[in-house]
Amino acid sequence: MRSKTAGPVKAGAGLFLFFFLSFPALAQSVAAIKLELDLTDAPRKILHAHLVIPVQPGPLTLVYPAWIPGEHSPSGPIDNFAGLVFTANGRNIPWQRDDVNMFAFHMTVPDGVTVLEAGVDFLATAAATGFSAGASTNPNLAVVAWNEVALYPAGTPAGEVKFAPSVKLPDGWKLGTALASTGADGTTTHFESVPLDTLVDSPILAGRFFKEIPLAPNIISPKHFLDVAADGPEDLNLKDDEISQFSNLVVEAGALYQSHHYNHYNFLFTLSDSVAHFGLEHHQSSDDRVDARTFLDDDLKLINGGLLPHEFTHSWNGKYRRPAGLATPNFQQPMKGELLWVYEGLTEYFGDVLTARSGIWSAEQYREMLALSAAEMDHRPGRTWRSLQDTATAAQLLYSTSSEWDNWRRSVDYYAEGELIWLEVDTMIRTLSKGKRSLNDFAGRFLGKGGDTPPAVVPYEFADVCAQLSDVAPFDWRHFLEGRMSSKAPHAPLNGIANGGYKLEYSDQANDFAHAFETRDHGVNAWYSLGFRTADEAVRDVLVDSPAYKAGLGPGMKVVAINGRKATDELLHNAIRDAKTSKEPIELIVENANFFKVVKIDYHEGERYPHLVRQANTPALLDEILKPMATPPVKKSI
Ligand SMILES: [Zn+2]
Repeated sequence: MRSKTAGPVKAGAGLFLFFFLSFPALAQSVAAIKLELDLTDAPRKILHAHLVIPVQPGPLTLVYPAWIPGEHSPSGPIDNFAGLVFTANGRNIPWQRDDVNMFAFHMTVPDGVTVLEAGVDFLATAAATGFSAGASTNPNLAVVAWNEVALYPAGTPAGEVKFAPSVKLPDGWKLGTALASTGADGTTTHFESVPLDTLVDSPILAGRFFKEIPLAPNIISPKHFLDVAADGPEDLNLKDDEISQFSNLVVEAGALYQSHHYNHYNFLFTLSDSVAHFGLEHHQSSDDRVDARTFLDDDLKLINGGLLPHEFTHSWNGKYRRPAGLATPNFQQPMKGELLWVYEGLTEYFGDVLTARSGIWSAEQYREMLALSAAEMDHRPGRTWRSLQDTATAAQLLYSTSSEWDNWRRSVDYYAEGELIWLEVDTMIRTLSKGKRSLNDFAGRFLGKGGDTPPAVVPYEFADVCAQLSDVAPFDWRHFLEGRMSSKAPHAPLNGIANGGYKLEYSDQANDFAHAFETRDHGVNAWYSLGFRTADEAVRDVLVDSPAYKAGLGPGMKVVAINGRKATDELLHNAIRDAKTSKEPIELIVENANFFKVVKIDYHEGERYPHLVRQANTPALLDEILKPMATPPVKKSI
């Protein structure tokens, strides 16, 4: 999953789940559960579904998926699961929710009944935040994760209960999915029966303004497709060089991972301003949601550039190779996030490297991204009380927090700091092997294990990661990585940047990414100067121990005036610049929940933005890392 371009997410479902042991009433039935999904009301935010479930008489408990793969938390949207009615032979079957496990429904199947029918609705009313349970429909499109409308017998492994799904679309809509169609019946498409884990792994993207674009057409097998649905027809007009870059991504990923673990791959790409913005990985597809104008706005294109490479990488790292603690048998068993710094951190590293190798970002843009990300991790006071390991262990708490005081709480830092650590590992392997080996070799061996395979899960433990690294370049990787994960050092591990021939420095020149975020969010990033950032003239967050923090600023305050004048973003930039040649503090009037106060910030060093600066005395390993492995160099397009 990737969420760093999204805002704060809605609090998820209850965090404390008790294991509910199943009743044996439902047989390991060979017959599939029929699941008919009706999207004709998706434009008004309600999805209908009808399930036909083979059963045996006696007590029965059905459960609603709680722990959603890739979301690393019990985020199944049970709060929006409604309209639940069970019938058998035309008679209503009463049900009771478990009084501890909110995701479980108990009932008794009468004698003689072998088929239970269930009517369910999913209320797609969430705000445009969150992940797959966030806003997912509008008048012209819908993204549906099947777990939103699925029930299955408690205690059943998700690989052992089969579903026969179908979907009915509004007139004129088309769809993309990794599921295999067996034919259409009017506006209803039927799919091959699949186990529940495959069903939940195969979302549907449907829309009125929809286009399927073949990628890397020279690759005969497996086939790759970009399935795009958008708010309006104008948003669908990707340029030829943009499509070529996505084709390069397919080719570069194949070269890096030396394998495919899917029969075909569909990027389900939603360009919309009314859905939650994030990415969620699957074996044979990814749910990738970005701003409607991503291909019409250079700032949005830059910000969103790394999303598809990240989610695509997950097909190898996260879906195929998966930490044992996250490879649970069904959606009710809690997951353990201890190795998310491999699952997400390594994906962040290779995803961003592939973004540059495929030409979606130029090398300079990659360095600007890395500079901003490294600077963020280097200004993270919370690292003195909380190790990076603890952010992974507590992942299920951190995805749903507010972003306010994130620098003190720490957030899902195993993405950005994981990226720094894996860059360090890559440069160390290159140095240890005198240029003969790199992390590319680790990728080929660890993620490409078994060569081309159908979708499968090959779990691993920390020891397996260390052993595979030592196989590529002998070293005490366990000691090194444990040191990085348990560190309480006040600064981020920047050795990878140094080993790569660059140094993180600050200047008054805008960072490309910081500038793009400022434009998108209508705000100012004064994080590395005054110590706060704004969006829509409100203080989004304040850096602990910065000049702004010492002056009393806090998140949520609204900046009303700057040095006696009505506040604007331009005025704030100017005030920081002008203070460089002044002895007076910058004076703000801020509003805090209808109360006003004057805040004086004594700061005189001008604007500061991070950049990577080339160090001539060390080899430019980072430049080597970004060179395409398979495709010829592509021209810069952003
Ligand atoms: Zn991810």
